[in-house]
Amino acid sequence: MPRSAIATPSAGHAEPVPLVDLQAQYRRLRPRIDRAVAEVLESGRFILGPQVTELERALSSVAGVRHAVCVGNGTEALRIALAAEGIGPGDAVFVPALTFVATAEAVVQTGAAPVFVDIDGDTFTMDPAQLARRVDAVAAGGSLRPRAVVPVDLFGLPADYPALRRIAEPRGLFVLADAAQSYGARCAGCRVGALAAATATSFYPSKPLGGYGDGGCLFTDDDERAAAWRSIATHGLHDGVAMRAGTNSRLDTLQAAILLVKLDVLDEELAARARVAAWYDEMLPASVRRPARPDGRDSSWALYSVLVPDREAVMRALAAGGIESRVYYATPLHIAAPYAQYGDGEGSLPVSERVSRAILSLPMHPYLERDTVARVCAAVARALA
Ligand SMILES: *Cc1c(COP(=O)(O)O)cnc(C)c1O
Repeated sequence: MPRSAIATPSAGHAEPVPLVDLQAQYRRLRPRIDRAVAEVLESGRFILGPQVTELERALSSVAGVRHAVCVGNGTEALRIALAAEGIGPGDAVFVPALTFVATAEAVVQTGAAPVFVDIDGDTFTMDPAQLARRVDAVAAGGSLRPRAVVPVDLFGLPADYPALRRIAEPRGLFVLADAAQSYGARCAGCRVGALAAATATSFYPSKPLGGYGDGGCLFTDDDERAAAWRSIATHGLHDGVAMRAGTNSRLDTLQAAILLVKLDVLDEELAARARVAAWYDEMLPASVRRPARPDGRDSSWALYSVLVPDREAVMRALAAGGIESRVYYATPLHIAAPYAQYGDGEGSLPVSERVSRAILSLPMHPYLERDTVARVCAAVARALA
């Protein structure tokens, strides 16, 4: 996700267009956010204040699940969910190769081995047929135990959960959705949070639901699982007694208060993002491959990412026009230095490799105007003419 959300792009003659504009949202919500922050400051309840509980109730209700457990960030959410299942050394956890590093990082932190799976060339999410192949190969190999799969909702589009679960569940795999980019999105009539046994999301500022700092959340319908997460996130305590070696991973009351304001306008912002995506679909030149819109899956449009024939030329033309663009992700994890030891090297996951060479994310946020999208599309068209 955009690590440069606050940075301004190189200046052109026209108004700069950042990839994500958090200030536009703040201008709109400022009175409510400032009031919410002031209330926390006056209450003095900075850790586990009432806003955290209120946010958890609201988040679980939007997702349509029994439990939401807020934690320190999205990476911790993933790690805590894996640890609660007892996943560790000797275990294999299947992750897509094209994702943010945190997906594999959380697996490595538990002591388990990430096993990389290729993505689907249209949706950029984990390919169910490739998952089946990899799980069966690891099971036959005998050196690692297949334990879990972590599909990623890349750019906000939910992975194909119905198909992935048909492969994972008969094989006894725990399904943990990495929904860091997709809170609010839908698949098969359900919302993110209710698509897998467990779901992790992130409130990093530039995500579709972002705070003003780090934050994350876990979702489940399982009471015991939720209790285990809560215990791990608060030093392994259960009713004040240490039951396990846990950690400290809580969402600040301040972030919860800010997120409550933003959650209130989330659906409206998701609709605005979808409108921006439709403008891009309409105005980009024909040689640009638009994001797929698979049946029954509605993206949260965290990013609008396309495949372009000449990425360097397009990025140069955009930068010259003061328009920020970014490559997510330039290196699939099976060939990224810290994770290559778990992979089979260059050429082993051809779709992830091919997509990583042509993918480009264009400016996307709910406050983009049609004229600005037209300007971005015109710059892309000039570069490819
Ligand atoms: C952002 C992100 C994470 C990590 O979230 P943090 O809150 O930054 O720790 C994990 N997975 C994916 C796919 C992400 O985009």
